[in-house]
Amino acid sequence: MTPQRILIIEDEPDLLRGLELNLEAEGYSVLTATSGDAGVKDALHEQPDLVLLDVMLPGMSGLDVCRELRRRNFDGPIIMLTARAEEVDRVVGLEIGADDYVTKPFGIRELLARIRVRLRRRGAAADTDATLHFGDVEVDFNKQEARRGGQRIDLTGKEFEVLRFLARHRGDIVTRDRLLEQVWGYETYPTTRTVDNHILRLRQKLEENPSDPRFILSVYGEGYKFVG
Ligand code: CA
Repeated sequence: MTPQRILIIEDEPDLLRGLELNLEAEGYSVLTATSGDAGVKDALHEQPDLVLLDVMLPGMSGLDVCRELRRRNFDGPIIMLTARAEEVDRVVGLEIGADDYVTKPFGIRELLARIRVRLRRRGAAADTDATLHFGDVEVDFNKQEARRGGQRIDLTGKEFEVLRFLARHRGDIVTRDRLLEQVWGYETYPTTRTVDNHILRLRQKLEENPSDPRFILSVYGEGYKFVG
């Protein structure tokens, strides 16, 4: 089993090092960033299983980092590290999209327990969206299998990823840029045309009438929307 990956965004070197050692001792693979901007980039690029995020960071604050990550569809758990109890109200009250927080100084055991809880919940959620049904289509993302009317359909890895991302944001407009960023990431950086071609092929494979799709819709001037 590959170790779960945790990104720590923290500017205090001693605390960062201490957390890193403790998490590695627990068997996690640890990534670190010491500024908000670097943290956002790393989280989006590396897609860690969980983010530990300090509130007080130089430049972009932890609250802004959290908002930015959610805005850009990072959906892993985020645990905030807050320096004062007052900050807790802001973290929770502002609904910035964090899942949990610990107040400094915190015990490492408490933090480890919270990390385990968040990772377990995430595992459970990942299982529930491992399959997708719409119309006469059934998709199993873990096995990378798709069937339409019981017949096996071949989708490429990228087609599975595009479909999964759209399905996770069912009912929402997803822009081409968002799909590029989430599915293709920083690799080769293809054009939005690549996205359109993948959508076209998904419709040909999964829609009864690809030129008048029922499930994978175009939203003129904006992007795509899955309504299965
Ligand atoms: Ca700090």
